[in-house]
Amino acid sequence: MAASPPVFRFAPSPNGRLHLGHALSALTNARLAAQFGGALLLRIEDIDLTRCRPEFEQGIRDDLAWLGLVFEPDVRRQSEHFSDYRAGLDRLAALSLVYPCFSSRREVQVAVLAREAETGRPWPRDPDGAPLYPGSCRTLPEDEAQARMAAGEPHVLRLAMDRALARAGTQLCYSVFDAEGGTRQVAVDPARWGDVVLARKDVPTSYHLAVTVDDALQGVSHVVRGRDLEAATDIHVVLQRLLGLPTPLYHFHPLLADETGQKLAKSRLSESLAELREKGLTAGGIRVRLGFG
Ligand code: GLU
Repeated sequence: MAASPPVFRFAPSPNGRLHLGHALSALTNARLAAQFGGALLLRIEDIDLTRCRPEFEQGIRDDLAWLGLVFEPDVRRQSEHFSDYRAGLDRLAALSLVYPCFSSRREVQVAVLAREAETGRPWPRDPDGAPLYPGSCRTLPEDEAQARMAAGEPHVLRLAMDRALARAGTQLCYSVFDAEGGTRQVAVDPARWGDVVLARKDVPTSYHLAVTVDDALQGVSHVVRGRDLEAATDIHVVLQRLLGLPTPLYHFHPLLADETGQKLAKSRLSESLAELREKGLTAGGIRVRLGFG
C-alpha cells in the first residue's frame, strides 16, 4: 500500500494581525510541504472567544493570499469543534486523569508566594516562566468537587500530570525532522509543566488539548511551528499517548526578534504585515527578507 502524502498545517489565532514571524512560519510550512509533496492546511485557532474576531480571521486570509500562499480549501475553525475536544476530555476523565480546579490565577499566585516565603526557595516555574500549579485542588474530596461544579462555581480542568505519566509511561519521545529529510529523536519531560489546564473557565478546551485533537483528526503528519512551542510539545506527546493518537513529526523554526532583541509578538504590537504592506513593502520583498526569495 502506498504511504499517504504528508499533511502540514499553519494554525494562526485570529486575535490580532499577523506579523513577520507568522509569515516566516507560514512560508516555512509551505516550502516544506512543497518539498515533501504534502498538503498544506489552514487551521484557525479561535478557542479564545473573547480575543478572537472575524475581522482578524479575514485579515489572516488576506495576508496569506497576499504572500501568495495557497491552502487546501477546507479550513478548520476550532470554535466549531468544541464537541471533539469534549470527547477527548471525557476520555481522559474516564481514566481519572482530570480534576477541577477552583483556584483563580490570583489565588495560585498567593499560594506560590506563601510557599516561597515558607521555604525561602523559589517555587518551580514551567518553561514559559509561570509557577507550577501548587496543587491545592488536587486533593479535594470527589463529592466536594462535584458539588462545587454542580453549584456552578467557576473552575478549570487540569491534567493530573503524575497519574498521566504513570499511565503514558515516562519514556516518551518524538522525532524532529529537517529539510533534508533527516530525523532525530527527542525525549520529553512533561513533568516540568505540572498539572496543565485542559479546559478553561469559559472555554471547554485549552490550546494543548485542541491542538492535539485537531492534528490527529486532520491527519497532520508534519507539524512546523516556532521554537516558542518546542517545550509545549512535551505536553502534546503525553496527550497523544493517553488518547491513543499518533505523534506527528515536528520541526521548530527560529523566532524573529525586533531591533530590541525581543521576540515578535501580537501582544507587543509588533509591526503587522498589513502595516508593512501599507508602507509599500511587497510580498516579494518580504519573501526575500525572510529567506524565501
Ligand atoms: N495557534 C498557535 C499560534 O498562533 C500556533 C499553534 C501551533 O502551531 O501549534 O501561536
